[in-house]
Amino acid sequence: MNQSKLLSEIRQQFESQITQVPAILGGNPFWPRGAPARLMPRNEIADEMARSLQGDQWAVYEGGEHAGLREDLAQRFPGRRPILTSSGTVAIELALRAAGVGPGDEVLLAAYDFEANFKNVLAVGAFPVLVDVVPECWTIDPLGLDAADSPRVTALIASHLHGQTPDWLRLRDWCQAREVVLIEDACQSPARYALRELLGAEINGESALENFVGEQPVGEIVAFSFGGSKPISAGRGGALLLSTERQEARLRLYTQRGNEAYPLSELQALVVRPQWKFLAAHDRYRGQQAMTIEMAWDELRGQRHVTSDRHNERSLVSLYKLGLWYEPEFWGGLSRGRLVAAAQAEGLPLAEGYSALHETHSSKRYRCAGDLVHASAAGRNVLQLHHTALSGSEQTTREVVAILLKLKEHADQLQSD
Ligand SMILES: *Cc1c(COP(=O)(O)O)cnc(C)c1O
Repeated sequence: MNQSKLLSEIRQQFESQITQVPAILGGNPFWPRGAPARLMPRNEIADEMARSLQGDQWAVYEGGEHAGLREDLAQRFPGRRPILTSSGTVAIELALRAAGVGPGDEVLLAAYDFEANFKNVLAVGAFPVLVDVVPECWTIDPLGLDAADSPRVTALIASHLHGQTPDWLRLRDWCQAREVVLIEDACQSPARYALRELLGAEINGESALENFVGEQPVGEIVAFSFGGSKPISAGRGGALLLSTERQEARLRLYTQRGNEAYPLSELQALVVRPQWKFLAAHDRYRGQQAMTIEMAWDELRGQRHVTSDRHNERSLVSLYKLGLWYEPEFWGGLSRGRLVAAAQAEGLPLAEGYSALHETHSSKRYRCAGDLVHASAAGRNVLQLHHTALSGSEQTTREVVAILLKLKEHADQLQSD
């Protein structure tokens, strides 16, 4: 379906709701009950819990589930050494420790990134070096690495963010040539799928998404989160994939203190295990819904289509929050903050992106190369749509577009009120 047809169809279908007064100005919310529930294998989890509660195995430090999850991960990621942790934030800190990063070392990361990654570098006594992101995108720019490099750089953290994935192969080559440890922050996207199929998907539409082939992560160390908002959730928790015995030994020394210092419980492991099995199916579904929303978004922002990926390889990952690039000029000058407030009042789980790290931390706390303009722009322009908005029926996805249409058509009123 081409863009204009999609938007005008949705416009027509939801005409009466779109023309209503926005909820933030006193009208009825479009989604009074909020977003749909997340995709989750509820029955499988309930069965596993019921089985586990018949005995006391769930109440021990390390029973079968902890070992079982590690085994699942070892199978899914051949050649890796899985470690379970208490959160994704801790997983990144432990990744740095496993890589041997400490005082006197520098760590490269994007100037637009999850705040805890910056703090984790400080936590291990190392110094963050901020690198700009790809223009009109929000992942680290491999072309910015040379200017930021120094003999003290020992690791690079790169994150899957808002459905975009960094140029892993370039990052890996750069790191390998310098013996810098590449840490892949996969907390938002525990899976990534093959490019070939994806390029096909963009050409042929939905049908090509059937060729959905999982790819192995590229980072020498990979971090996952099972935190309460993530595609795989145990409320809390995380995991790491290490590559070498040396990394494992370093981590053991730090985390094994007679007892495990950053544990994942049996119950957490138990609820996480079935979710990995359903991940690809859920990712495929969310990916399809995201395509509809992105298509509509491109038109909503005034037909000015920007290819957000400089390396021109749009890869598909687990969608945690779908990133949308917001430019107020296409919305009659409506500020991003006001748009977000209005969207939330409608029940849509839309939020502002992160703040650029160099704009929220003292310049004494980091080093950087260049002026980080694209990271600043990302800090101003990124919107993130939570995955629950992609997890309802196809009809619900059209409602997401209708809510955005409603807000756009009332932009003047929203702004002046
Ligand atoms: C959520 C997240 C983390 C941390 O995960 P928690 O389990 O919430 O601590 C790290 N990096 C990124 C990019 C994230 O989105």
